[in-house]
Amino acid sequence: MAKINCIGILTSGGDAPGMNAAIRAVTRMAIYNNLRVIGIKRGYYGLVYNEMEEFTTKSVSNIIQQGGTILKTARCKEFTTAEGRAKAYENMTSAGIDALVVIGGDGSLSGARIFAEEYDVPIVGLPGTIDNDLGGTDRTIGYDTALNTIVDAVDKIRDTATSHERLFLVEVMGHMAGYLALNGAIASGAEAAIIPEMETEIDQLGDLINRGFRKSKNSAIVLVAENPTTGGAMGLAQRIKEEFPEYDARVTILGHLQRGGSPTAADRILSSKMGAQAITALMEGQRNVMIGIKNGDLVYVPFSKATQHNSSIDRGDIDLVKILSI
Ligand code: ATP
Repeated sequence: MAKINCIGILTSGGDAPGMNAAIRAVTRMAIYNNLRVIGIKRGYYGLVYNEMEEFTTKSVSNIIQQGGTILKTARCKEFTTAEGRAKAYENMTSAGIDALVVIGGDGSLSGARIFAEEYDVPIVGLPGTIDNDLGGTDRTIGYDTALNTIVDAVDKIRDTATSHERLFLVEVMGHMAGYLALNGAIASGAEAAIIPEMETEIDQLGDLINRGFRKSKNSAIVLVAENPTTGGAMGLAQRIKEEFPEYDARVTILGHLQRGGSPTAADRILSSKMGAQAITALMEGQRNVMIGIKNGDLVYVPFSKATQHNSSIDRGDIDLVKILSI
């Protein structure tokens, strides 16, 4: 196996708080081990269009606390084509890069897998997505921060919901996995969570309305995972209007607010550990794996498994939301 001398690092897909902490850890762990580091801008776009710069320890100073990504991120159509990836490989080798660390979600890691297979490039991935929807890992970078942002927002919505005796539908991200909606509901004391893993949305909501809001409660908050097929919270509000016209259901879509902000301590620690482990993994000869965390231990997850959606939602948690909001 050829010795690795220079690592290229990129962030791709949706940004997530903690990506900067991961970039810092990858860079400093690499330099500590006498490896060169090249920062690639705008995800795969920077590989295809040759936007790269050499990183020093100083390049990553004072970023651990910043949300977003100093490398920028993008969705790059060209990289999904064989010609685009050929250009990427040419630029990468011209720059002297002989291994990559890719921080992103399932799309970014799918791209990494294809590139690694085509060009025999050692690549290690880090799970960078607020949705917590990757296989083989209990946590993804950014999830904890997004969850805290949601809870903070729902606490505020609760004040106005209670004052007006209203039903609020709060839409959160996570169209493939309901972790943000479900754990956001538990943490904020919401009355229900509507998640992709659950099928009978309107029945659940009818049950909620009959059980709680109608009898004893003077407000109700339901966390709804975004859902392009059903229209998410807006779609649900429309159905409530038709089936329970007596209720004044209001919708708040948290949207990109959930992606921003300074990462929580938990996300900074996770990103730092995973980032450092990515370099250890490459030096150990690991390739085409994502760093995951399982029961507190860092693990190597093959890209093929990481990109399978993780929907190990605990059904008991769905009941817990209901039981605790009686
Ligand atoms: P998020 O979870 O926030 O959506 P993501 O990593 O899943 O993040 P995508 O937009 O799906 O985001 O993917 C990011 C980029 O990865 C794409 O713009 C493309 O450049 C690359 N990519 C995705 N899928 C493939 C693929 N099948 N082949 C090659 N490249 C891909």
